[in-house]
Parts: sequence; structure tokens; C-alpha cells
Amino acid sequence: MPRFKQRIDQALGERQDQGLYRQRTCLTRTALQTMGPDGAMINFSSNDYLGLAQDPELISAWQEGLSQYGAGSGASPLVTGFQTPHQELEALLADWLGFDRALLFSSGFSANQALLFSLLQADDFLLQDKLNHASLMEAGSLSPATMRRFPHNDMQVLQRLLKRSDAAAGDRLVVTEGVFSMDGDLAPLAEIHTLTRAHQSWLAVDDAHGCGVLGEEGRGSCDFAGIRPDILVVTFGKAFGLQGAAILCDHGTAEYLVQFARHFIYSTAMPPAQAHALSTACRLIRRDQWRRDKLAELSALLSELVDPAIALQSTPTPIKPLIIGGSEQAVAVSTALRERGIWVSAIRPPTVPANSARLRITLTAAHSQADVKKLAHSMNEVIHGE
Ligand SMILES: *Cc1c(COP(=O)(O)O)cnc(C)c1O
Repeated sequence: MPRFKQRIDQALGERQDQGLYRQRTCLTRTALQTMGPDGAMINFSSNDYLGLAQDPELISAWQEGLSQYGAGSGASPLVTGFQTPHQELEALLADWLGFDRALLFSSGFSANQALLFSLLQADDFLLQDKLNHASLMEAGSLSPATMRRFPHNDMQVLQRLLKRSDAAAGDRLVVTEGVFSMDGDLAPLAEIHTLTRAHQSWLAVDDAHGCGVLGEEGRGSCDFAGIRPDILVVTFGKAFGLQGAAILCDHGTAEYLVQFARHFIYSTAMPPAQAHALSTACRLIRRDQWRRDKLAELSALLSELVDPAIALQSTPTPIKPLIIGGSEQAVAVSTALRERGIWVSAIRPPTVPANSARLRITLTAAHSQADVKKLAHSMNEVIHGE
């Protein structure tokens, strides 16, 4: 008798006992509002930082793409799935972000996995920030390389790990996020870049939360820090308002991934209409500096209005964590805010380290000053009432 059922029941029971049981909530999102089970909500939990997901220009671009190219790509990229809109998007990304090549993937999760699985061999060392995304951690631990994790943004430990592996037979790859998704802080990319150059290591940056938001024309964390990594991963589910991802790299690495990255070779190419819409998203991101300016303005307003006794983190990004600690308390605050029409999800372990459950508040260029005022006032009421 297989014991899957027993195993499943036990795992679910444990999650429930730990207060870590997760559930999806079905929402309806339109250009004007987000509807939750209790009515209209102001959504402060999306990653749609620039407000593009509901942007009329982007929506028309996708519709236009559908009329022009049809619904699906029909095949993987090496068969017949790579079409003119994909090629145009790759060229646009490479030019904008300053790399030889861009290679498209269906998701950031698969791009990260493709990168680490194809690049790393036994004898190699993979050095990762402890707070890197689950897709990077998982691929790293399953890869044949030796993975070492350094404490978040700890340059001394990174330097020590690089020194210690100087004599290694294989290569070194340092991987960090540009903007950390659950904390909203930045990696010290200039220092990391200097260290990797000094130790002949490659540097890969996952800029899922920085691209579009930081830097000149929204080029992201690396532009903001004045560096160019060997490999850059950008994802389209956040500031681009859509879905998908790209790996930016030199010509040889792109060719290598085309030959050997299984997530690329054996997966259906994104719909051409989506690639067409993504090219429009790139143009809007570059053109609309006002979206980044508005985020800065809303960010300043929030810090000004939230009671100083509330330990809301001040960050240079639209991600504003409020670390609460206990999972149940975090859920309680989230529920109390929801009763006031504010949607802020509680983020609990294992997504974040133990005892650091938090509210992850995110601002978007689609929020108004009135929305942010309502958020601040509700936080002041609810968190004082704790
Ligand atoms: C969201 C995210 C990913 C995954 O991207 P998807 O396109 O959603 O699969 C990868 N890395 C980081 C840092 C992310 O925040």
C-alpha cells in the first residue's frame, strides 16, 4: 500500500499546527479596484510596481499581438516557437540592458533553474546570499557544484568564501538578488562586483524586483550601482506587469544555453502576442520616468504618515516590510487591515526566516496619495491596538 495519503495528511497537519497553513484567496482585479471576499480592497501586496498590469497601452499591445500572431506559439523555441515578436523583444532587451544577448523563458523560476543547472559542474563553487529566491536555492542545492550560502549582504564572509575557494579546480559563481524580494533592500553590488573581479569569479544578478524600478530608464539595480554583471536575470511578472523572464549574457553563453538549457529547449515558447506586449512594456518602462517618480513620492508620504513607533523599514524600493515576528500576530494584523479595506498579505516562514513573519507592503505607481494615506492611518490604528 502506498503511503502517500498518510504522508500528505501528516504534512498538512503539521503546517496547520505551526500556524503556517497557506491558502489562496480568489480576487478580482480591474483597472479601478481589487475585489476580495469582503468587498473592495486597496491592494498593497502586488508586485505590479509600475502599474503596468492594468495599463491601457499595454493591454492594447497584447490585443494587437493576438490579432497579428494568434493565441499560442505552438512549439518550443528550437522547433517553431521562436518567432519575430520573440526576436524583437530579445533585441530590445539586449540593447536596453547593455548585453550581447537576451534569451526568453516562460518564468523567472525556470530561467534561474536553467542557468544554474546548465552552467555548474562538479568542482565548481556556487556562492549565494542566504536570502536568495527559492528557485536559486533549489537549483543550487540540486546542482553538482558545492553551494555555500553567505549571510545576507555579508561581504566579509563572501570574501572569505572566495579566498578559500581560490585554489578550487572548478569555477566560481556568485549569485545575488539585486533587490531582495521580502526585505526591499539592495545588494551591495559594487562591492560584490569588485570581489568577484578580484577572485576571477562570475557574478549573476537576479533583478526580478529591481528592473523597471531602479536606475536610468529603469535599467535596474546593476545600472543603479554602476556595474555590469556577467549574467543578469530579469523577470516580467513584476514591474513589467506581465509574465515570463529573460537571461542576459554574452553571445557564447547564450549559444551555450540554447544548446544545453533543458528548461529552454523542452518548454513551449511564450505566446508571440505576449512577447509583442512585452516589447511595449519595455518601451513604457523606459519612457515613463513619472512612474518611478511617483513611487518615490508615495514612498516618502508613507514614511511621513506612519507612526514612528511602528518599525516599518525604510527602503529605496517600493517594498516596505514590517517585521512582526510571530506568524499568528502577522496574520492577525493582516486580517485587521483587511477589515479596513486594505489588502496586505502576511508572509510567513518558510518564505522568510523563522520568527520574522512580516507584512510585506508594496507600493505601485497605480496607487494614489489617498490610498497611501488610508494605508498609513489604518496601520496606525491597527498596530497601536495590538
Ligand atoms: C518572482 C521571482 C522569481 C520568479 O519569477 P517568476 O517569473 O514569477 O517565476 C525569481 N527570482 C526572484 C528574486 C523573484 O522575486
